[in-house]
Amino acid sequence: MRLDRLVCVKYNDTIPKKKPGKVGQNKSEVVHELPAACADEAAAVEFMEKRRWGDAPSCPRCEDSDVNQMRDRKTGDRNGRFLWRCRGCDRQYTVRIGTLFEDSRIPLRHWCYGFWAACSSKKGVSAKQIQRQTGLSYKSALFMMHRIRWAMAPCDVEKLSGTVETDETYVGGKPRSKGPHIKRGRGTKKLKCQPFVGHLTKDWPASSHCMRQSVALRADDG
Ligand SMILES: [Zn+2]
Repeated sequence: MRLDRLVCVKYNDTIPKKKPGKVGQNKSEVVHELPAACADEAAAVEFMEKRRWGDAPSCPRCEDSDVNQMRDRKTGDRNGRFLWRCRGCDRQYTVRIGTLFEDSRIPLRHWCYGFWAACSSKKGVSAKQIQRQTGLSYKSALFMMHRIRWAMAPCDVEKLSGTVETDETYVGGKPRSKGPHIKRGRGTKKLKCQPFVGHLTKDWPASSHCMRQSVALRADDG
């Protein structure tokens, strides 16, 4: 027997044998449920409820587990707004309360799609793309993607060190006057344009990134 064959046989003997299973078997609940959640509002609400509470729903305000789904008396279907009632504090709530979906009327199926697109796209996804694919207005798509990006941002952002360069700029706004010498940026009306501040360091290890961080913050948010 040839040496390479012998090594191969001996190596294979050391590998524990796998249990037989179906090839391509879907083991992820999220992958299985997400397409339906992106297409149907009731499926999207149930998807979010399952992700948040699992099999033990509770009140987001008082954390009481004595809660029930509100249903239509005639049909027995779930309430049109997918409300829950808590017997502990005697208040109504939805799965949106206390999450980034709160204070938003964008259907949860679009939120599901936004998260899916943001997670599966290598280079991120633009609000314009979400607008085209969901039918939302650009303003709504931009608002939704801002919240999704904020939720997906790493919490333990490393502080910049070494030589840090900081600069500000103004985006948007209408020019003060019409004519050939229209001022852009700082020269526009302050109330309409959005100030941004960026920070940049060049003292990061060259093996990772020369310019490690570039953070833009709304100046009026501090
Ligand atoms: Zn409660």
